[in-house]
Amino acid sequence: METRRLFLQKASLSAMALAVPALTPLSAMTNSMNTPAKDSKTLRVAIMGLGSYGTRVAEAIQDCERVKLVGVISGTPSKIEDWKSNYNIPAKNCYNYDNFDAIKDNPDIDAVYVITPNALHKDQVIRVAKAGKHAICEKPMATSAEDGQAMVDACKAAGVHLLIGYRMHFEPNTLEVIRMRKDGELGDVRFFQGLCGFEIGNPNQWRMDRALSGGGAMMDIGIYAINGARYMIGDEPIWVTAQEVKTNPEKFKEGLDETITFQLGFPNGVIASCLSTYNMNNLDRFFLNGSKGWVEMQPSTGYGPIKGQTHKGPLNEPIVTHQTVQMDEMAAIIFDGKNPEVPVNGEEGVKDMKIIDAIFRAVETGGKVPLNLG
Ligand code: NDP
Repeated sequence: METRRLFLQKASLSAMALAVPALTPLSAMTNSMNTPAKDSKTLRVAIMGLGSYGTRVAEAIQDCERVKLVGVISGTPSKIEDWKSNYNIPAKNCYNYDNFDAIKDNPDIDAVYVITPNALHKDQVIRVAKAGKHAICEKPMATSAEDGQAMVDACKAAGVHLLIGYRMHFEPNTLEVIRMRKDGELGDVRFFQGLCGFEIGNPNQWRMDRALSGGGAMMDIGIYAINGARYMIGDEPIWVTAQEVKTNPEKFKEGLDETITFQLGFPNGVIASCLSTYNMNNLDRFFLNGSKGWVEMQPSTGYGPIKGQTHKGPLNEPIVTHQTVQMDEMAAIIFDGKNPEVPVNGEEGVKDMKIIDAIFRAVETGGKVPLNLG
């Protein structure tokens, strides 16, 4: 099973490498102090935030060809001890939230992967950038477009990459749908539907604390429908309308959205109709309709396996561990200047944040909010 998984990952990576030509390395804009040694082809990563997703990423990195987990940043000393022994991490590469600026003096770490609650990402990424390390940041990159832009600006000023953990941008079935659309197999794309949600449990977790989450379902899971609408349709929306429903206002307090339906208008009359919710399980479905064909994916953004049907038959691309492929591809972006089929840079994250800002405004005003994503 393990061997098959590895084989499929490698096969898919080679296929992607063939399909996507390498472009000029970003190192052209990085100063020599911040650029990892040219001969170092392995991306040496420290994970910040050793929670549930951080653990999943750490496990996935074990199967990477070009990425090594070499450090941790955590507020929980017992987790640091566990990770040191589980992943053979040296004590000199372990930090907490107070002292991690000192990572700037650690030549054995190239990048920090920030996997903490949403509202902490901005300051943490900016500190990583100031320490001269590349930043990989989980979604949502921030809790507003303004904060996201500040992160982009800080990374640019420091000459380091900022990459967002959009794992679906490297998932083979998703890439096959994008290929079909680009090759005209769907004809003119006219409609996308994205349904994303799950029933949230414990009301005391950080996801239900606006100060840490920046919002409810939209920041956490609705963002997959927003991002998906953009990469499935292959264009940027120009307006948004949205409606909110709360069945449990006691649990979902002011500023914590439970369920929002929203519509995105794209150029040429193309529309997306989406649902983001913390009140329904098994909601993970994309549908794309064009003048010549269609695609249906369910699950569409979960950890997989991603499954789908098209007018031509089932989607049958390799099953991969999303985070393994993502991390190897991110090493190629950072070291080889590889240009991924769908961007994962900070600017891509800011676009989603602008849409989320506009969705909240549309809920508030009840009107159509124009978007200009440039
Ligand atoms: P968890 O609660 O499981 O882990 C978050 C970790 O962040 C904690 O374990 C803790 O680690 C650290 N942390 C630092 N400060 C705080 C604080 N004030 N409160 C709580 N935790 C804190 O969350 P997840 O791992 O599920 O989510 C983390 C991020 O990853 C989020 O931005 C989320 O949106 C994203 N995510 C992305 C997924 C994807 O598929 N791309 C899937 C799931 C999550 P420590 O004790 O080491 O300091």
